[in-house]
Amino acid sequence: MRYDVLIIGGGPVGNYLANLLARDFEVAVVEKKGSFGGKACTGIIGAESYERLGLPEKAILNKFRGAVFYSRIQSFQVERKSPQAYLVDRKALEKELAESAVRKGVEYYMATSFQGFRDGKAVLQHLGERLEAEASVYVGADGITSRIAETIGAETRAEVLTGYEVEVVGDFRKDFVEVWVDKGMNEEFFFWVAPISEQLARVGTLGSIDALGKFMRTRRLKTTSVVEFKAGSVGFGWRKPWVSGNVALVGDAALQIKPTTAGGIAYGMLCAHSLRRALLEGNLGSYERGCSFVRKQISFGLRFRRIFRGLNQEGIERIFEILGSREGREVIEAHADFDDHLKTIKAVLRRPRLLAALLRVSPRIIRALA
Ligand SMILES: Cc1cc2nc3c(=O)[nH]c(=O)nc-3n(C[C@H](O)[C@H](O)[C@H](O)COP(=O)(O)OP(=O)(O)OC[C@H]3O[C@@H](n4cnc5c(N)ncnc54)[C@H](O)[C@@H]3O)c2cc1C
Repeated sequence: MRYDVLIIGGGPVGNYLANLLARDFEVAVVEKKGSFGGKACTGIIGAESYERLGLPEKAILNKFRGAVFYSRIQSFQVERKSPQAYLVDRKALEKELAESAVRKGVEYYMATSFQGFRDGKAVLQHLGERLEAEASVYVGADGITSRIAETIGAETRAEVLTGYEVEVVGDFRKDFVEVWVDKGMNEEFFFWVAPISEQLARVGTLGSIDALGKFMRTRRLKTTSVVEFKAGSVGFGWRKPWVSGNVALVGDAALQIKPTTAGGIAYGMLCAHSLRRALLEGNLGSYERGCSFVRKQISFGLRFRRIFRGLNQEGIERIFEILGSREGREVIEAHADFDDHLKTIKAVLRRPRLLAALLRVSPRIIRALA
């Protein structure tokens, strides 16, 4: 087995990259699972990114045109006429991308796991059998616990959190996501409610299962109405290097994840485009530079995360007052960008009244975000 590019990991990012490379390279994907999907992931992707990335319509389960934000004592709503984010079926997304890659000539090795490198070749295990595959370039798209990252000595001091998510039967507004911020229930992260329909939603948080239980009671969702439960990890921070010799990391393997919301699908795919450009140039070294948009967003997200962690509920309530004011909502409705949080915050800080009010909460916030 000899390829130009061997992609380890057939998650959304690996399969997406396979499609991008199929026309110009001999490509294979190695996936350790026997089928796609199954990962804990709410599957919310910004509508603009979804369209721009050319992702399959077939995988969309629901479309959101707004969000309702709840603190312990306040709530406010932002909305637009058109859908701002989609909720996707992860299995359908991965399978659609894989099928399309196969049609373009990519070879798939399912139920096959990468074990390590020996003499420049990838050692793989398919059921009880050992195989070797050789490639000019190897790509680790093998998720947060990336074996490839470990093999090339990529290091991280990222904050790793466990995410818990359920699908639960209840009453929901189908085209609105709910975001709940209550430090008394969860110090680590917000809670989300992402409806699939008016009767079913994905509800989750990062941190502890106990926090999710408390939230479900507050939101009056019965644990006995849960029809699916999943847990998984996210990592906020840097894992470097993204390239070593003829090996590159992409997606969660490189921690290309938003520290603001834990969304990683769109950022991984955006970086897949940079990786393709670097491969076409025959210069893997240019890959990381090409991901400058994602790197800036991660860097902003990490600063945002530090602020979030440092705030108590009183601070959260004051920020809710500011963002939930008429002017705050107007700015969010006009400028919020699902995948460009830096742009959203800049729009808020450009409004003198909002800026002054945030300065009164803490000048540190402005210093960190500006
Ligand atoms: C609770 C939770 C909710 C989330 N919600 C969202 C959301 O709403 N929107 C969003 O954008 N992101 C979300 N994320 C993050 C999102 O799941 C990841 O960013 C995304 O899955 C990254 O895709 P990937 O292809 O890089 O990695 P993965 O999806 O992890 O795929 C990696 C693939 O590699 C395979 N693999 C691993 N090791 C090997 C090996 N040794 N050999 C062969 N194959 C291997 C795995 O089986 C897997 O299929 C969420 C995460 C969690 C935990």
